[in-house]
Amino acid sequence: MKSHKNLGFQTKCVHSGIDEYEFGAVVPPIYQTSTFKFRDVKHGASLFAGEEKGYIYTRMLNPTVEAMENAIAALEGGHKALGCGSGMAAISTIFITLLQSGDHVVCSSAVYGPTTTVLNTIMKKYGVETTFVDSSDSENVRKAIKPNTKVVYIETPGNPTLCISNIEEISKIAHEHKAIVVVDNTFMSPALQNPLLLGADIVMHSLTKFLNGHADVVGGVIVVKDEETYKQFRKTLNQLGGVIDPFNAFLVHRGLKTLAIRMEKHCQNAQRIAEWLETHPLVESVKYPGLKTHPHYQVGQKQHKGPGGMITIELKGGFEAGRVMMNSVKLFQLAVSLGGVESLIQHPASMTHFSMGKEAREEARITEGLVRISVGIENVEDLIDDLAQALAKVEQAMSGKVEVHI
Ligand SMILES: *Cc1c(COP(=O)(O)O)cnc(C)c1O
Repeated sequence: MKSHKNLGFQTKCVHSGIDEYEFGAVVPPIYQTSTFKFRDVKHGASLFAGEEKGYIYTRMLNPTVEAMENAIAALEGGHKALGCGSGMAAISTIFITLLQSGDHVVCSSAVYGPTTTVLNTIMKKYGVETTFVDSSDSENVRKAIKPNTKVVYIETPGNPTLCISNIEEISKIAHEHKAIVVVDNTFMSPALQNPLLLGADIVMHSLTKFLNGHADVVGGVIVVKDEETYKQFRKTLNQLGGVIDPFNAFLVHRGLKTLAIRMEKHCQNAQRIAEWLETHPLVESVKYPGLKTHPHYQVGQKQHKGPGGMITIELKGGFEAGRVMMNSVKLFQLAVSLGGVESLIQHPASMTHFSMGKEAREEARITEGLVRISVGIENVEDLIDDLAQALAKVEQAMSGKVEVHI
């Protein structure tokens, strides 16, 4: 891998990968092959023994995948990275590699839903206990640590409340107790936040989101700081098989080249929209790390380079307001996921969390008027116009002046 240590982040986005591609290709070629031939018996034996570097079988390592992994490791300031079939494949590979029966995990309460589920079901079944804490107060992490705590797992900003956890402080606390710190950095991307440089041990991303950035790939990645950990993870990944395929790795690598400029635009647009929403009479509250009203604004300013593209709002009209807003937006698309160039909007109470019922939603702190917005890179005036017209429909529906059949 080329050493790009002294280059700027945008330059690294464009140039990181493998030094030289075959035939002088400027772009990483897609090695769409499941297997690689050996020159002779001796070659095969030395590859398997790890005496010589080379490729054997795509589940074990593939050059296109490796190029993408190198690029992400460079962007995160890590030693090496491992491409996975999805963000959840990365998360489960991390848990299965690091944990065994009798171990304990401290996890942020505001994490991606399926992460909670994996800890509460699969990992629990294998004898791993988890304590969920509001990690935006680092002391809560300290209090939850037990003698058998092996992993401290945080997501910051957290899902969907966008609360911020102090990576540096939590890493110090965890390390005093010899626990390994894992950070889900999906919401920020390495363009805005580098947890490894703040003291964390392992970073994971859903590549599906900002890193690929074009909503056409499902993938994940693990970034580690040393060769020993890399080898451990590579072994699990090879055995369990949750790898990414060469074509998806190629697409992600292509997406990475524009990561820095995309993130800049996501941040600019989201800041404008968050400020505008804050002044809107139908909006009860706006959570966005770029607003001074965010409860952890100062910590955020210290640990990230920009507030990101995710906004969470609470509508005054609750469930019905959310429903009408969803059915009224034209440019924003109703969809789960995030981090693509196109803006998406989601109302958990009427959509993703509808079937669980109001009471269970309350328990999970999914309020009835909560709306999550993934701000894209469109012209911000168009996005604000769309939200304005949708909120005008909400106002009409709420005031009962017009019967709105939407
Ligand atoms: C989407 C997401 C994941 C899971 O990633 P997949 O690629 O969907 O498996 C994990 N963490 C966060 C924060 C996410 O947004």
